[in-house]
Amino acid sequence: MKYDDENIFAKILRGEIPCKRIYEDDFVLSFYDINPQKKIHALVIPKGKYIDLDDFIQNASPDEMVGLLKGINIVAKKLGISVDTGKGYRALSNISEHGGQEVPHLHFHLFGGERVGKMVE
Ligand code: AMP
Repeated sequence: MKYDDENIFAKILRGEIPCKRIYEDDFVLSFYDINPQKKIHALVIPKGKYIDLDDFIQNASPDEMVGLLKGINIVAKKLGISVDTGKGYRALSNISEHGGQEVPHLHFHLFGGERVGKMVE
């Protein structure tokens, strides 16, 4: 599958669509989910064009991989949900059809601010 440059997160990265930005650096952009499922629901996306986690693992550079993982931790700290700043959270990435992925640009959901509940429905 080819990366779709017209997906909504690509448009957010290009600044064509606004977002409620939480954090940004060379590797990631983080913003609030438009349809929050928990008290805190943030998204962390890599700046590179990766469709999903499988694509990222196979094709991203080591710097991009470290950048994304560190970005998740930085955002969790900023939101006060990391283990050292709060009570924890769930980081989740849906992958393709059976994973229930809707937007074909890799993203991690960060859910927190309350008990997140069962892992899967
Ligand atoms: P997924 O099903 O894992 O692909 O999740 C896609 C997520 O993107 C959903 O939770 C949507 O609510 C969220 N979303 C879609 N459009 C936007 C947007 N413009 N800004 C912020 N979040 C969005």
